Parts: sequence; C-alpha cells; structure tokens
Amino acid sequence: MIRFLCLFVLTLAFAGSAAAQNVAADAGDEPLRWTIAIHGGAGTIERSQMTPERDAEYRAALTAAIEAGSEVLRNGGSSLDAIQASIEVMEDNPMFNAGRGAVFTAEGANSLDAAIMDGEMMRAGAVAGVSRTRHPIALARAVMEQSPHVMLAGEGADAFAVSVGLEQVEPAFFFTQRRWDQLIETLNQRGWPIPERPAGTEPTPGASAALSDGDDHRFGTVGVVAVDSQGRIAAGTSTGGTTAKRWGRIGDTPVIGAGTWAGRGCAVSATGTGEYFIRLTVARDICGLNDINDMPIAEAAEAMISELGAIGGDGGVIALTTDGSVAFSMNTSGMYRGWADQDTAPRVAIYSDEDVLP
Ligand code: ASP
Repeated sequence: MIRFLCLFVLTLAFAGSAAAQNVAADAGDEPLRWTIAIHGGAGTIERSQMTPERDAEYRAALTAAIEAGSEVLRNGGSSLDAIQASIEVMEDNPMFNAGRGAVFTAEGANSLDAAIMDGEMMRAGAVAGVSRTRHPIALARAVMEQSPHVMLAGEGADAFAVSVGLEQVEPAFFFTQRRWDQLIETLNQRGWPIPERPAGTEPTPGASAALSDGDDHRFGTVGVVAVDSQGRIAAGTSTGGTTAKRWGRIGDTPVIGAGTWAGRGCAVSATGTGEYFIRLTVARDICGLNDINDMPIAEAAEAMISELGAIGGDGGVIALTTDGSVAFSMNTSGMYRGWADQDTAPRVAIYSDEDVLP
C-alpha cells in the first residue's frame, strides 16, 4: 500500500513538472501579443508655447505611463491591471488633469471623475465628484468589481473607497499652484468671485510659470485602452474635468459610452469638452461603427470626431480593436498620446501633425 502511494505521488509530481514545462515551452514559442495606447488630454497645444524642456518632459511622462502598463502586459497581466497601472502613474503626475494636478472648480476644490470598462465581460465602473480618494481610477474599478453598481458620486463614492480600503488623502494633496493660477485667471476673465485658497496649501512662487503650457486650461485628462495576451480588451479614463466648473458639473469621462467604452472587439477613451461627447455618445458609437458597420477603427474614430466638430465640440479619442489596431483622432492642434505593443517600444506624440503609428 505504501509502495503504491509513493508511486502515485511520484506520478503526480512528474505530471505536474511536465505540465509546467509545457507552459514554459508554449510561452517561449509564442510571444505574448498585447497592445496599449494612452492619451494625456487634447487641446490647443502650440509649438510656440512649448519650451524644448517642457516638450521633453511631456514625452517622458507619456513614455513612463505607457511603460507602467506595458510591464503588466509583458508579464501576461490583464488589460484592466495595465490600464490601472498607467492611469495611476498619470494621476500622480501633476502635469496631467487627473488626480494630483487636477483643475479646480469655481469654488476652489478638486472634483475628480473616472471610469473603467471591461469589454470582455461588459462590466463597467465609474465615479464622479470624488475629492479624497488618491486614485479615482482604482475607485472606478472597485465600483465595477466590488459593488452591484456602475456609477457612484460625491461623498458616497469616497465613503465606498474607504470601505474597500483605498488610499485616502487630504483634498490639498491634489493642489498644484499652476492649476490654482489658471482658476484665478479664468474667474477674473468671467468676473466670478475668487474663492479662498484651499486649507493646507502654501503659495509656491514660480511653480505656475514653470508648468505653463499655453492658454488652454481645460485639457489634460488621461485615458488608456489596452488588449492583453488573452485578447481581453478594456478602456479607462480619469479627469479633474473643466476649469471653474460649477453646480456639480460632470463631463463625459465617467459617462459610460460617452468618454469611456469597451465592448468585446473595441475600446475607446476620449478627451475634450465633455458636453459634446455626451450628446453624441462618442466612445460607444466609434465601437458601433467598427463592430456593427464593419468600419476600420481609424475611419470610425475620424467619423465621430468630425460629427463632434460639426456640433461645435473639440477634443480627441484613442481607440483600439482586439487585433491590436490603434487609432488616434482629434480636431484640436494636439493630443498628448502614445502606444506600444509586444514588438514596439513606446512611441509618443503631442501635435496633431506628428505621425506616431507605423
Ligand atoms: N472630457 C473632460 C470633461 O469634459 C475634460 C477633458 O478631457 O479635458 O470633463
């Protein structure tokens, strides 16, 4: 009996190691296929407004964000993990209008929106008006995976973040002098009252000029679309919204189908004046044109951006299909953007006339 048991255990051990070798051999023969594309906002980005240092800083920031997601995908991780990793890098970087560095409301607060959608399972999560959760994209994901809901807003959303153990910060964490100065300038132009400087923030002279990127204050939203080595496609977007927004204004970013959408074959993240993207359900319609009408993804993205322009909207989109086709489309003079796949190191671009795709 003991001899039989030993034989049984040995057989199991051998089968186990053979299986492990097969996995390794498969992984070695077939390189994992994956693609990631990101944006860091679209707007009036003029070469004349940009110093070479600033230009290089943006390109480095985009590359770092692509790298964070690529690392996940290269190791066989999921598109959702890659999207969260890339977006968290940009949420922590004050150069972007998401998380730290977000624009201010007219009342002088940061009010953050984010959404994520898993095209494979058709699940989605979104948050609006968050002010204490360090990574709004992580919260959107928690809504998708740990709540029965799709969208949570305001204090309730932050309370849910606490309940699932997500990192909380003081609202001053999101403060940057550059965005504060932009708010004051916008409020002065509009003749609106200037709110008190948020508690816990100190003026940092010079910080604003060093980070100035022209007179376009609305943009800088971040978004990522990715397909992983198992063909799972997803999209995510995170933003502080528009400068001097009032009355609890919410843009397209957390509105599933408008600023963020993923289906089984396609994923889109948008940036620009949200009011127009919501009316045209831009993200969902791009995927509809691609999936249902069989339109190549680049044409579908162009078609929706042209419709957006026709009703007075401005902005851009990144779009991706499960075969790894990437599209960038915008009607602004620039969109911070880039992509990578299993064969291509991160390629980034800023201005609309730059080619970033092969
Ligand atoms: N789409 C965002 C919003 O309207 C802003 C942006 O992309 O810059 O809230």
